[in-house]
Amino acid sequence: MAEFAQVIIDITHEKVDRPFQYRIPQRLRETLTVGCQVEVPFGRGNHIRRGFVVEVSDRAEIDREKIKEIAGILEGSVSAESQLIQVAWWMKERYGSTMNQALKTVLPVKQEVRPQKKQWIFCLVDREELNRLIKEAARKKYRARERLLRAFLATNGIPMELLANQMNITRATIKPLEEKGILMVDSRSLVRNPAESYVQSKEGGWEEEGLTLNAEQQQVVLQIKKDYDEGIRKTYLLHGITGSGKTEIYMELIDYVRSLGKQVILLIPEIALTYQTVMRFCRRFGSQVSFINSRLSAGERYEQFERARNGEIPIMIGPRSALFTPFRSLGLIIMDEEHEGAYKSEITPRYHARETALYRASLSGASVVLGSATPSLESYVKAMHGIYGYFKINRRAKANSVLPQIQVVDMRRELQEGNRSIFSRNLAALIEDRLKKKEQVMLFLNRRGYSRFLSCRNCGEAIKCPHCDVTLTLHREQGQENQLICHYCGYHIPRPKTCPSCGSPYLAPFGTGTQKVEAMVREVFPQARVLRMDLDTTSKKGGHEEIIAAFGAGEADILIGTQMIVKGHDFPAVTLVGILAADLSLYASDYQCSERPFQLLTQAAGRAGRDERQGDVVIQTYSPKHYCIEAAAAQDYEGFCKRELEYRKLLHYPPVCAMMTLMVGAEDETLAETAMGKASRLILTWEKDAGENGQLQVIGPVNAPVYKLNDIFRKIIYMKSENYAILIQIRNRTEELLKQMDEAGKVNVQFDFC
Ligand code: ADP
Ligand code: ZN
Ligand code: ZN
Repeated sequence: MAEFAQVIIDITHEKVDRPFQYRIPQRLRETLTVGCQVEVPFGRGNHIRRGFVVEVSDRAEIDREKIKEIAGILEGSVSAESQLIQVAWWMKERYGSTMNQALKTVLPVKQEVRPQKKQWIFCLVDREELNRLIKEAARKKYRARERLLRAFLATNGIPMELLANQMNITRATIKPLEEKGILMVDSRSLVRNPAESYVQSKEGGWEEEGLTLNAEQQQVVLQIKKDYDEGIRKTYLLHGITGSGKTEIYMELIDYVRSLGKQVILLIPEIALTYQTVMRFCRRFGSQVSFINSRLSAGERYEQFERARNGEIPIMIGPRSALFTPFRSLGLIIMDEEHEGAYKSEITPRYHARETALYRASLSGASVVLGSATPSLESYVKAMHGIYGYFKINRRAKANSVLPQIQVVDMRRELQEGNRSIFSRNLAALIEDRLKKKEQVMLFLNRRGYSRFLSCRNCGEAIKCPHCDVTLTLHREQGQENQLICHYCGYHIPRPKTCPSCGSPYLAPFGTGTQKVEAMVREVFPQARVLRMDLDTTSKKGGHEEIIAAFGAGEADILIGTQMIVKGHDFPAVTLVGILAADLSLYASDYQCSERPFQLLTQAAGRAGRDERQGDVVIQTYSPKHYCIEAAAAQDYEGFCKRELEYRKLLHYPPVCAMMTLMVGAEDETLAETAMGKASRLILTWEKDAGENGQLQVIGPVNAPVYKLNDIFRKIIYMKSENYAILIQIRNRTEELLKQMDEAGKVNVQFDFC
């Protein structure tokens, strides 16, 4: 039984890293746990203050005699903070971090927010007049005006900032409408709810009724409600194709759980949290809903969490960190696009939001709904084993919406038959057709830049990054100087005129990126209006929303982009999706190298024909017989999973077992080798001892796929076991060992669970 407890007094303070140590009196040793709220004597006067236990230990950190005693445990309902501290503890144990790092992840930092004055645009005409004006703008092809007016169908007021940044609307569009008394410009300070930075509530609230659910949707909602009524709390996997109406189901469930007086967290990957999505939830739940995203300042975020704690808002929507909303009686967590890689944190503690959501739900007696068109293999297997409830919807929700037709084009054949273009003949013909019909096209290529690399025709050298083991990507933006850029570390130079190795002037670009696709489209289809969306065109604030809004409003015929364009956006006028090279990552080295492309291809295909018109999808590939491509073309999720699971079983990869990687890096290559040598000796002894029971399997050490990155040499070792606890033990021991040997702090150590 632990003798001491670390207590933090002000958990909203920045300094959670300054806990105070207290002695746990004998009578409390049975009941006191991490997360408990306690009363302690504090400061010179020993006034009783409240605090939270964040750790327990057997070691006195100061003179034993000077350690004060905890006065008592506060009874009553478990507070949100207690739960979050328990979550932090769990994260620390599960993913490896200090308690301090874990606490900083789950507890919001207190900060003052100064209310800012914002310019708002208000609409002064009634709905009928508004509709008339919209029609008129459409007829005259005043695109921006039409878009602006349309926005007022759902709201009375919109901040200027939003119009400018996310909807690409300028003063010039507003001015004439203001002069005619249709719109009014006004300054006011409001920061109560970020939802209000999107919209101003309509008179009398704007909560709308939901749609009438179809039979498939009904069945899901009824089952989950029935379980809930019977006190059953569990995790459900909602496996519904894109457009099957999952979002409507979420809203119905939120409504229900709300009616029971409980709160709801809805996780959505940040990239899908667009104006469209936000408005949809605002219309339904009005001021009950709040949003967080990474663009909020620490202060704004703190304020939203405060409002959640006070019970002002019962619904929180946001990316993975919304999981730490301090709700008191959380009833439901929904995780949309549960397969998304963005749910895993890339900073320590490297938690996965799915697992963490399940843990948080278990603490507060909440249910969890995981939704996806392409569930992660892990969740799918759990559902098949009955651990999760499972629902499958194979039909689109809109009455006349049909699934697209998918064809696979073998690009080797195209080449043999003399077509050297990046567009297959079929795709080119379909693009032509859509341009004629004034329907929209999306072209997807998962590589940004112009060409993959520049290579010398004389000596054969490709130009590499001096800091990383990768080639530099050629960037060729209209009106800008050509650049060579490292996609790993950001290093960049102007395109050299001669080869840095031999001085030859014959440098040729190889491979295709989105910029080149744009150039090709402009050349082959000069009549088309084109937009491009990738990291380069969206890096400025709101850039991403701006492009989506413009394409959504029909301001372009073709949208070219990287995976950004396939995630969750609903463009009803898109009837053709072209996937230009479906091979790019199939042969990557990690074990998910088929799962990810399969998900991406399926999601991309799902973008076509969301409306009544028949959609087409063309998948161009050099490996048409790969099971990932075949399954994606047949939209055969089950078939893919079966094959993929056989492969994982055979080679012993997750979800068949747990896997942990250790990456050791150092600027000094020898140091990296020595450190990894030490670690691997320890790990391999373990394997020898455990090997008999087949409990641990070690692969490596090997050089990381990109060995030198940002001037750091990196070695990797992979450990697999069916017993997660063994991996944790190894992690703790190895971490200790490496810490001891690296007193100068020159070695980076990173553990990662898959
Ligand atoms: P998902 O989240 O599965 O992609 P959505 O909930 O966004 O699907 O629904 C796709 C489209 O179908 C949306 O335009 C939505 O308004 C419409 N829709 C969903 N459910 C219904 C329904 N029961 N009746 C009519 N239209 C629906
Ligand atoms: Zn050369
Ligand atoms: Zn680099």
